[in-house]
Amino acid sequence: MEMTRLLRKTSLLLALVLAASSGVAAEPATQSTATSVATASAQPSAARFDAVFAEVIGPGSMDMTWEDYEARLQQLRVLLPQGDRKREVQFRSVYCTSERWKDPKQGLAYADEAQRRAQAAGDLASRGRAQYCRIGYVQELEGAGQALLEADRMVSMLENSSESQLLGEALTERGSLLSQQGEQAKALLDFQRARASFRQAGIDHEIDSLMLWIAITYRRIGDWTQAERYFTHSVERMQDKQDWDRVITDLVQLGYLYDESGNPQKAKASFARAIEVALAHKEPLSAANARVGLAAAQVSLGEHDAALASLAQARAAFEAESRHGNDDMLLLLTGQALAGKGQHLEAMDRYAQALPLIEKDGNQRYLALLYQARAASQEALGNAGQALADYKRYSTLQTSLQGKMRLEQSRLLEYEYEIRKREFENHRLRAEANTRKAQLKALERVRGWQTLALLLGVLLAVLTALALRQRQRTRRLRTLAMTDPLTEVASRRAIEKNVEQALAEAARTQKPLTVLLLDLDHFKTINDRYGHAAGDAVLRATTVAWQAQLRGRDLLGRIGGEEFVVVCVDANREQALMIADRLLDATRTLQLPDIDPALHVRTSIGVAEALPDDTRESLFARADAALYRAKHEGRDRVEE
Ligand code: GH3
Ligand code: MG
Ligand code: MG
Repeated sequence: MEMTRLLRKTSLLLALVLAASSGVAAEPATQSTATSVATASAQPSAARFDAVFAEVIGPGSMDMTWEDYEARLQQLRVLLPQGDRKREVQFRSVYCTSERWKDPKQGLAYADEAQRRAQAAGDLASRGRAQYCRIGYVQELEGAGQALLEADRMVSMLENSSESQLLGEALTERGSLLSQQGEQAKALLDFQRARASFRQAGIDHEIDSLMLWIAITYRRIGDWTQAERYFTHSVERMQDKQDWDRVITDLVQLGYLYDESGNPQKAKASFARAIEVALAHKEPLSAANARVGLAAAQVSLGEHDAALASLAQARAAFEAESRHGNDDMLLLLTGQALAGKGQHLEAMDRYAQALPLIEKDGNQRYLALLYQARAASQEALGNAGQALADYKRYSTLQTSLQGKMRLEQSRLLEYEYEIRKREFENHRLRAEANTRKAQLKALERVRGWQTLALLLGVLLAVLTALALRQRQRTRRLRTLAMTDPLTEVASRRAIEKNVEQALAEAARTQKPLTVLLLDLDHFKTINDRYGHAAGDAVLRATTVAWQAQLRGRDLLGRIGGEEFVVVCVDANREQALMIADRLLDATRTLQLPDIDPALHVRTSIGVAEALPDDTRESLFARADAALYRAKHEGRDRVEE
């Protein structure tokens, strides 16, 4: 199953986010190669070709070392019978994955030719495999955006065929590219479909790698809790399986997760463990990838010299293998570390080199990071105008990124709701069928009308109880989507619905409607100081305190990490301002002795009253602008 190998290579590559390519373990060929060559040589060439080909595309290829795999490809080349068109097509569809194609342009040309021939021969599986090669090469040459189009083509090529395994691989690949492009909900859909395809093909081998992707996607959506759960679980599992490649990947991912959620200290520990495991298992490239992450955590912690040292080690390892895919991150982080040491001119030089690379890859998050870093250096260098321009670029990007993340979160919520609904539906149908069966059996056993009458009564009672339980479960499902699981206030989805209804109602009844947008002040500091779990507890305590201040008809909802909305129906701006003041006070007087008696929570609030032509978006935009002013004016205040 060479696609899977390539897939694992590519997935790992994407998974590491920064990786140019995954490590190629330089282990000697195992005994199994020798045995298979020995048994193979007793057969005629075509049969031997078929046997090796089956190994290459079979699930076992996942456990081969890279050298074993490459050795088999070369074996195939020798075994390919002269003038055998059918086998030549098959051969080309796997040979395009060879390490031989170091130059991606050559690799792409070879894959194109392979695909042309597969199409002419009407060999769909080979066409699909050649397309898989195209995805990898196009990504290397033209970036993830173009690669996504290639992945789309692979999916549609295989969608209505019986090639479940290849379809699963295509979906996994497209999902990972989507995830990288920020389309998280779509990505999760693809991963889910991929899982089904692999199951259909009878391969559960792939499920673990899909789990990794699902975890990564949760991280990108900003669902830290879910992501941390999946990764931690995965590290343990992979340790048991002694899959060190994956242990390293998971630890690196966990590191980024901690860094992003404001835990650089934990991030550092996770990256350090990844490096340790990588070195112990002779994976120099994986160690280098982990060092890039370590450098990011060190920059967050202000350990700039240490960061520069990590980056130098990483660069040396990449250069030794002539890998250049993560030059952009190396440059950006080097710039940040230099800036941290006050060497802003040198930092600017690194940013200038990093910019075109990041732009080519289209990673908006990195781009935002770069503008933010450059703004700081411009300012330090006294270029106020340019600093401001960069800051604006950063802020525009950041706003759109956050908006996108929220959108993805709500889409995901809907999607999860759909899945659970479907699962539940299946469960219900099964339960009903079983009940009917039991009923029939019982009836068969019944003797005489009296017993029957009695039994029917019992059945009726059982069925009623069952129906009741089902209704409760359905309600729980609905709560799941309409409330935020952490704070149990309304979810973003619920708030959006509610505001739309309230706007329509306000237009009809001519009654006022006002929304408050709340964002906790310096929440990152709370997370940094007390940890993420404490941060969660603060969020819960704060919403409880706020609820106590609200009128029965006001609806409180959580729309982002530490961002909330209160919808005040039938309240004009004066009344809403009073509510906002109460919330401000409730926040100020909040006591959290379990975390730290000296901990003070503060919030900023933006207020906007609905105008006759307002849509949800325009109303929220005004509240957002007001909130921005409240932050700008020094926080812990209300603005309108
Ligand atoms: P500002 O006053 O400008 O709003 O500062 P801030 O630190 O609150 O700014 P920012 O919005 O950048 O940071 C929000 C932080 O909230 C970042 C993220 O780590 C954290 N966060 C987001 N969601 C959660 C969550 O569910 N739980 C916890 N504990 N933290 C979260
Ligand atoms: Mg915020
Ligand atoms: Mg905040």
